[in-house]
Amino acid sequence: MDITSTFKIHVVGPEWAIDLLQRQQAAGRVPQALLLTGPPNVGKSTLARFFAQRLNCQETPQPCGRCASCRKIISGNHPDVRIFDSDDQAIKIDEIRNLQRELSLSPHEGQYRVVVLSNFERATLSAANALLKTLEEPASQVVLVLTATDPGALLPTIVSRCQMLALRPLSTQSIVEALQSHWQALPDQAELLAQLAAGRLGWAVRALEDQELLVRRERHLQELLALLGAGRVERLAYAQQLSRDLATLKEVLTLWLTVWRDLLLLQSGAAQIKIVNLDWQDRLQTMAHHSSLAQAKEMISRLRTALINLERNVNPRLNLEVLLLKLPSNR
Ligand SMILES: [Zn+2]
Repeated sequence: MDITSTFKIHVVGPEWAIDLLQRQQAAGRVPQALLLTGPPNVGKSTLARFFAQRLNCQETPQPCGRCASCRKIISGNHPDVRIFDSDDQAIKIDEIRNLQRELSLSPHEGQYRVVVLSNFERATLSAANALLKTLEEPASQVVLVLTATDPGALLPTIVSRCQMLALRPLSTQSIVEALQSHWQALPDQAELLAQLAAGRLGWAVRALEDQELLVRRERHLQELLALLGAGRVERLAYAQQLSRDLATLKEVLTLWLTVWRDLLLLQSGAAQIKIVNLDWQDRLQTMAHHSSLAQAKEMISRLRTALINLERNVNPRLNLEVLLLKLPSNR
């Protein structure tokens, strides 16, 4: 079952965050600015949409997932709910100024105007400064929800004006259960996807709904293998090609991060811990024999830095070139 076919959003894991908002709402103290932090695909924008639904739902229990308001929010047609979650476009100052004009008006039909600004660390500095003004003089019936992977990349003055909720990766078992109970996955399918998801329910759900995702994953793993045996010229050519599409680039780097973490586990002999890329166990075992623990540690740190740089608008191609030239070689 697809989320959008029912208009009901399933939030798995941060139930504590929902409880908190529920108590604040009941006490008439809805926070005017929230900051949701955590790794990519951990559920930040799902939780933001859930809050938007909850604040404007016309039925009980909120959100009902059936009323006109809930439906409009899921289909992106609610006049009082604005969601900015482009994967590769940073929010600009003009958009913030337009928003400010909208926010000065009362809600059209909902109880609250809710604005979700995803990956706000990617906003331009002028946009961030402009938003600060809105945070300093909040209008009533307006709730701003910012999301960020790394709150350290935001202006401290923004962070200090938001109620921060930090989301953590889910356990494999919670993902297995959620995939079966809310998304009707078969047991075997749920086990594999939960393992590959490494705590990111959003990724597992996408993989369930989009069979291409696993095909692409296999291709990206093969490419990594080929790059280990490739020279400088081939590596730079790959960087040029991959850096054209930011969403794919992030997907690939996140996958590689799971590979090097697996290699670290295999090299340190932590046999009791399951690796993430279980279906690649044999090939990873071979890779582990041909590289060192120090290399795995270095690659994990370099991949983390590269992913943070992408959120901070560092040139994707340069970022990737540096990474690929440091990739160990098995030639
Ligand atoms: Zn509703």
